[in-house]
Amino acid sequence: MLNTQNIKAQLEERLKFLGTRVDEIEDDLREPSDPDFAEHATEAEGDEVLEGLESSALREIAQIQAALDRIAEGTYGECATCGETVDEKRLAAVPHASQCISCASKK
Ligand SMILES: [Zn+2]
Repeated sequence: MLNTQNIKAQLEERLKFLGTRVDEIEDDLREPSDPDFAEHATEAEGDEVLEGLESSALREIAQIQAALDRIAEGTYGECATCGETVDEKRLAAVPHASQCISCASKK
C-alpha cells in the first residue's frame, strides 16, 4: 500500500516551489527593457531562456495537479494507460508519473 499522504505532501511542496518560480519568471519577463542596456540581443535571448523555464515549470505543475487529482480519486499509482501498478521506485523518483515504466518508454 502506497503512503499517498507522504507523496501528497511532497507534491504540494513541489507545487509551491514551482508556483513561486513561475511568479519570479513572470516578474523578470515583465520588466521593461532597460534603455541603457546596450546588448538588447542578449536580453532577448535571456527572455527566451526564461520562457523555456516557465513553460517547463508550467508543464510540471499540470502533471503534479493531475497526480494530486489521482490521489484524491484513489487511482494514484495506477498506470493511466494499462492500469497496472506503477513501480514504487519509479514513483519515488518521479512522484507525478502517470504511467508505468513500460508504457512511458513506449511511444
Ligand atoms: Zn502501463
